[in-house]
Amino acid sequence: MWEDNVRRVVPYVAGEQPQKKNIIKLNTNECPYPPAPEVSKLLENMDCDSFRLYPDQNTTSLVDVLSEYYKVKPEQVFVGVGSDDVLCLSFLTFFNSDKPILFPDVTYSFYDVWADLYRIPYKTVPLKDDWSLDVEGMKQENGGVIIANPNAPTGLYAPLSVIEEIVEANKDVLVIVDEAYIDFGGESALPLLEKYDNLMIVQTFSKSRAMAGMRIGFAIGSEEQIKCLRDVKFSFNSYTMNMPSLELGTAAVRNDRYFKEITGKIIETREWTKKELTRLGFKFPDSMSNFIFASHKSVPAKDIFGYLRANNIYVRYWDKPRINNYLRITIGTDDQMKVLISALEAFLG
Ligand code: PMP
Repeated sequence: MWEDNVRRVVPYVAGEQPQKKNIIKLNTNECPYPPAPEVSKLLENMDCDSFRLYPDQNTTSLVDVLSEYYKVKPEQVFVGVGSDDVLCLSFLTFFNSDKPILFPDVTYSFYDVWADLYRIPYKTVPLKDDWSLDVEGMKQENGGVIIANPNAPTGLYAPLSVIEEIVEANKDVLVIVDEAYIDFGGESALPLLEKYDNLMIVQTFSKSRAMAGMRIGFAIGSEEQIKCLRDVKFSFNSYTMNMPSLELGTAAVRNDRYFKEITGKIIETREWTKKELTRLGFKFPDSMSNFIFASHKSVPAKDIFGYLRANNIYVRYWDKPRINNYLRITIGTDDQMKVLISALEAFLG
């Protein structure tokens, strides 16, 4: 029977993308602002005739602009279809040991899905009660480590000294730091690359660069690591990045002023939202990301989630152990957050 030979997996469930208009969408950590103005200008004038051709398989323009921006060699940069693609390829490339890879029990819920997909053994290391990393737990024997910093869905940031301690303790394996949310106040582990050849960093254009729809993510690591990633990519699909994404992504990186402006604005709105949520009786780990992971002192998260959804305000809720009394609320515009706070006020009395 063909069914006996199927690679069965339980897929990752992404946040809802409701197709109706006039909703306040605070459920998938997208940016509430448009991409840099150069992006729409470039799109308006795009030469569609070139779509006849395959795109640049080496993603040169984007690799070059990122290598300039992050002050690394082009050979140290790998670009993929969102950081999901980069991370998935990294699991395939680097996590090939019989020993289990390690990641926290509460973290990006795609990690265990990729591990299952590729039959990579893994072990989760429980976060402490305050949601911080169990650094000692990350020092047990393993076949690789992946950490999201700031973590999702908690939003909590681990200082670089903590990341360094984990990288230092795991010199014989690769440590991947998923920095999807690093641009909202945290310090990137990029400077550690000079000191450690077992560290690789993954980032995305989906949050701070307002381009989730374009699907752009990237890894920065040693030349050797990036070569390994490229070899696996070219054994899989040479043309992962489409032409518009390459061009528009390049334009986005060139406008650093706009990037700093929108990330700064989101941080400001986040800090305002923290005060308001505290006033309404919520508790949350101190977020350094573009979302807040909040739990109310008396009203169950599931009820609040249902009420908000009925009022066209979408936040994220997981009915999972440890986190089933929390809502993950993406930071939107000031106006969107004001509507959210008014709705919460009305519901919580
Ligand atoms: N890492 C983390 C921690 C995330 O929360 C997300 C967003 N779902 C991703 C990676 C993937 O983002 P993207 O594929 O849009 O770059």
